[in-house]
Amino acid sequence: MVDPEAESVSGPVDIGIAGGRFAAIGYELAGNAGEVIDCDRRYVLPGLIDCHVHPFLADANFARLGEVPPTLMSARAGRILEGMLLRGFTTVRDAAGADWGIKQAVEDGLIAGPRLFIAGRALSQTGGHGDFRSLTDDRDICHCQHALAFTSRIADGIDGVRKAVREELRKGADQIKIMVSGGVSSPHDPLERNQYSPDEISVIVEEAQRRGTYVMAHAYGADAIRVALECGVRTIEHGNMIDEATAALAAEKEAFLVPTLVTYEVLADTAEENGWSASMMDKLSRVREAGLQSIRICREAGVKLGLGTDLLGDSFDHQSREFLIRGRVESPAQVLHSATRINAEILRREGELGVIKEAAIADLLVLERNPLEDLAVLQDQGRHMPAIIKDGSVVKSSLTESL
Ligand code: ZN
Ligand code: ZN
Repeated sequence: MVDPEAESVSGPVDIGIAGGRFAAIGYELAGNAGEVIDCDRRYVLPGLIDCHVHPFLADANFARLGEVPPTLMSARAGRILEGMLLRGFTTVRDAAGADWGIKQAVEDGLIAGPRLFIAGRALSQTGGHGDFRSLTDDRDICHCQHALAFTSRIADGIDGVRKAVREELRKGADQIKIMVSGGVSSPHDPLERNQYSPDEISVIVEEAQRRGTYVMAHAYGADAIRVALECGVRTIEHGNMIDEATAALAAEKEAFLVPTLVTYEVLADTAEENGWSASMMDKLSRVREAGLQSIRICREAGVKLGLGTDLLGDSFDHQSREFLIRGRVESPAQVLHSATRINAEILRREGELGVIKEAAIADLLVLERNPLEDLAVLQDQGRHMPAIIKDGSVVKSSLTESL
């Protein structure tokens, strides 16, 4: 049994599962007979968690997303979610785009996918990272039903953002996503410029907290991160341009950083063919260079680092590459700790997710090799995972099963 936090592997164990939870863990458990899977001295790891995904952004060309109706979008999302589960991600946090319907479809077993924590539509100010209108478009908020309209909503001013948060929570958002700086994939907003006033961000945080949840903020520039932290934002998404002083503040506030490094690697290969402009490509190369440095700065400052991917389009197959990229500056144990325990803490499900212990939710991967020695065992679309268990049910298994 691999424990990334203790950076250790236990001796051989039996793991008992009942009612979707780990029931008992020990050596040669007596156990009342049930289905038995013989893992034959392979390695077991808690189910992985990805804290930044967009299962509905099935096209990296955002103009084309405007032509994707909810029906087609759901079918594509179903395929994307299934791929994630088969790579060993038993839980994912949506960072805008997923709605309660797709979450329900997974819970009802209509889609084989990870359990979802959804953000609903992200809040963006007018002209912000979630405002995808072209410069020739003077329409107010569109009432269209397509993939982009599911991804963000424009809300301005104290009353406007308050209502937008309440609307998203009404429709089942588990957490609220906001855009507090420019972004790479939006054509018209400068990367480092802050978005939203501190007053607006504070109201968003207040409304989320009143409902017992929290705010995740897309942010690149150090100043945007600082303002978000001072207003009570709990998780900083991307955070590539964070500096030492801001990292110290994040540590003091016990906030989390969720880096998403793989998406820049993939976009660098594919952005041009997806119609990205020169200014978008310039933004991309700047955040890509800063990405690994942000991990070093945050580790040094003691910031809790989650793990996310932020992939778009047909690039979801690269999801597990995030481990290898993080592995350039962190140990495998640190990377896996982020993808299990820390991500569970982000979801406020510590002790229940991302851990193999009695009473926790039974999400479990069986691996051919020790991941603390070789993160490559998590690559190749789950090929080196002979068994995956989610909620105590076998998702896939090529191991010997007996009754
Ligand atoms: Zn973002
Ligand atoms: Zn994102």
